[in-house]
Amino acid sequence: MLNQIKGLHHVTSIASDAAENNAFFTQALGLRRVKKTVNFDAPDVYHLYYGDEVGNPGSVMTYFPFSDAARGRRGTGEVGESVFSVPQGSLGFWGDRLAVAAEKVEAVDHFGERRLRFQTADGEGFALSEIADDTRQGWVGNGIDAEHAIRGFHGASMRLQDTGAMAELLQFMGYEKVDTKDNVTRFAVTGGTGADTIDLETLKSTPHASQGAGSVHHIAFAVENRATQLEVRKALLDTGYQVTPVIDRDYFWAIYFRTPGGILFEVATNEPGFDRDEDRAHLGEALKLPVQHEKLRPFLEQNLQPLGN
Ligand code: ZN
Repeated sequence: MLNQIKGLHHVTSIASDAAENNAFFTQALGLRRVKKTVNFDAPDVYHLYYGDEVGNPGSVMTYFPFSDAARGRRGTGEVGESVFSVPQGSLGFWGDRLAVAAEKVEAVDHFGERRLRFQTADGEGFALSEIADDTRQGWVGNGIDAEHAIRGFHGASMRLQDTGAMAELLQFMGYEKVDTKDNVTRFAVTGGTGADTIDLETLKSTPHASQGAGSVHHIAFAVENRATQLEVRKALLDTGYQVTPVIDRDYFWAIYFRTPGGILFEVATNEPGFDRDEDRAHLGEALKLPVQHEKLRPFLEQNLQPLGN
């Protein structure tokens, strides 16, 4: 069993409209845009990162907004909900705010947590969960004070027809089974980033999802550095997973592998972080381009959709 994985690093999804996506995550949810860059493989498409003040691992929600993306179909073989941690007593505030800004807002109790579930305009599933013992500081720069601010992810759920192989994989990655209710089993990792829970939801007869706007593209787990990432990579290869070589993503190093049931996993390093090429005071303001796409800057600055602040 591995001990290098420290919970979630980031979640990356597909959106249909860059400006609307930016407005929802910065203004409605109050996250900080910590990086405005482009997709390495499709540089005419943004890659937008939202998180806490510096985009600490475990706080970062990222998007590829493809303007022509059709809405994905929800189903199995995908991440169901990404779940943020909020302070206790804050859900009343969020309920009022999301009643206007989000869709299908619903208060639920989930493994003893008070939770508000909602969907984005693209139909992507999220929840805010009141967590008592989370000491992380949320970003308070967008008009939401510290008593209410999102502190980062609490975790995510995954929907599968058969969760057996995924449960084994999570346990191999260092997660422990901590609770079960109905068709949902909770796994958690200790000593993580705070984004430490994964809920596996068994939906035996639900068809496979089809990816599009509102779908999670991949979910990334955090490791401290490149050395521990190589240890994880070797262990996964030895277990039979097909893992990509290490890829430089400018703000972290990444490896990817497809899991049983179809969900794409990434393992990303906590180094070097989002302040490697920008002042902390101005993170996410300027368009940053991977060096191989710098020659496209004049075209991109003219053609990428303006985001607002
Ligand atoms: Zn990623």
